[in-house]
Amino acid sequence: MILDLIMQRKQFLKLALLTNLSLVLKPEDIFSTTKQIPTANNVLYYKRGDVEYELLRKGFNKRIEKFPLIIALCKNTAGVAEAIQYAQQNNLPVAIKSGGHCMEGLSCNNGGMVINLSLLNTIEWADKETITVGPGCTLQNLYNNILPRGRIIPGGSCATVGIGGLVLGGGYGLLGRKLGLTCDSLLEVTMVDGSGQIRNSKDDKELLWACKGGGNGNFGVVTALKFKTHKAPATLQSFRFKTYKVNTAKAKAILQKWFEVSATLPVDCFSAYVLNGKTVYILLTNVGKHTAELQNVINQLTAISGKITKTKPQPIAAALKVFYGRQEPLYFKNASAGLYKNFTDIENCVDKAIDTVLATPGMIYQVNTLGGNIINTEAEATAAFPHRAFPYFSELQTYWENEKQAARLLKKFEEVQNIFTGNGIHTQYRNYPDINFTNWDALYYGSSYARLQKIKNKYDPGNLIRHEQSVKNV
Ligand SMILES: Cc1cc2nc3c(=O)[nH]c(=O)nc-3n(C[C@H](O)[C@H](O)[C@H](O)COP(=O)(O)OP(=O)(O)OC[C@H]3O[C@@H](n4cnc5c(N)ncnc54)[C@H](O)[C@@H]3O)c2cc1C
Repeated sequence: MILDLIMQRKQFLKLALLTNLSLVLKPEDIFSTTKQIPTANNVLYYKRGDVEYELLRKGFNKRIEKFPLIIALCKNTAGVAEAIQYAQQNNLPVAIKSGGHCMEGLSCNNGGMVINLSLLNTIEWADKETITVGPGCTLQNLYNNILPRGRIIPGGSCATVGIGGLVLGGGYGLLGRKLGLTCDSLLEVTMVDGSGQIRNSKDDKELLWACKGGGNGNFGVVTALKFKTHKAPATLQSFRFKTYKVNTAKAKAILQKWFEVSATLPVDCFSAYVLNGKTVYILLTNVGKHTAELQNVINQLTAISGKITKTKPQPIAAALKVFYGRQEPLYFKNASAGLYKNFTDIENCVDKAIDTVLATPGMIYQVNTLGGNIINTEAEATAAFPHRAFPYFSELQTYWENEKQAARLLKKFEEVQNIFTGNGIHTQYRNYPDINFTNWDALYYGSSYARLQKIKNKYDPGNLIRHEQSVKNV
């Protein structure tokens, strides 16, 4: 991703040397009503017209265009505190960007301040099993550091997602059923609150709870994340089951069978059902032994599928790279389409959704397995993530190259979302937000919302840190 490429620390220093000093904002240039001149030691400010502003403004989703008044490129926690104080003095709403992958651009705003954390990307080892990571560190940089030491944190699949946004919303992926959500490995956070005070979750367990699934741009800027790491599995093997030229009945029948079979999946495995065009594609991965239970799953999926391919068990670092995905920004809409307990949650409405997906090239409907060790009472009690009882997470995706296609695809997208929400789907994953969700508070946070509001009151009573779907003060 462009920011990661450009704003690695070394390149930043090079850029800073090359940059004409006039590109670095002087406070009086920024805002005619400036009340206090910010120091520039720990943070650099950019405004529209600056080369850096354009680079820092953009996110992974090319569909979203927002124009903050000022971008604060922070070098450390003190810089974040300075930027927050400056925003407070000048009454600028603050959005927070780590890796810039928010699917609805909630890490940017119009007319406010964006705190950019791409320089806070270091990884420090406290001991052989514990690391402190900057929120701007990407998943691939994390894995490049920790996998050679035989350690891992369960993450998502996208290489360039920022650890900040990923963990604060939960974080699921290929290793989730074995090792839990990303946030389940979080031990401690450092955060700058809405008045510029530096806080640590050692002093407030409730803050750590809130940052495990309820922390995305809601009440503070997280500047450091301490994680326990896990012994990395040695290998990952993947199996792909494809069925071509499906109609609605066939796509639904395979989906129903997939739900039944995936309910017996060993925790070492992950699976996804993907309807893309007229092809159903089932992915199955395994990081453990090839057990009889796994073979039974493979046999049953083979019986309902057309073409089956598999890889040999590959070393984990190389195998995960296969799932890293595109690194450059794209035009797309991708959102949570519901968390499910089982097939009966969608049995009555999924035909209509499949009809639309089959008739809309560029649209993908995907259901992923959660479950396994994500369902864990201790984790449930210590994390704001509220949806552990739902072992399936679905997402709707649509991609385009030509902007002229956008309006039609977005209309179809909304139609499918309405099919699901109209049929009682009432749980959604915050890391896959949809700007059209009106009751997003209940959908994303469920029973955790009221508790998150108390955290918001405590750390950001003036609602300085906010976006379109941020937790509201009580
Ligand atoms: C291509 C792609 C693949 C993905 N794959 C997965 C996956 O496999 N599994 C999964 O769980 N998710 C996945 N996601 C979703 C991803 O986890 C979220 O988009 C995540 O929030 C992105 O984090 P970020 O730091 O890159 O994004 P940003 O856009 O920087 O931030 C996302 C949100 O978090 C807030 N935020 C960011 N940093 C901080 C901070 N330091 N303090 C407080 N708030 C902060 C922002 O305000 C914003 O609301 C994927 C997203 C994309 C685009």
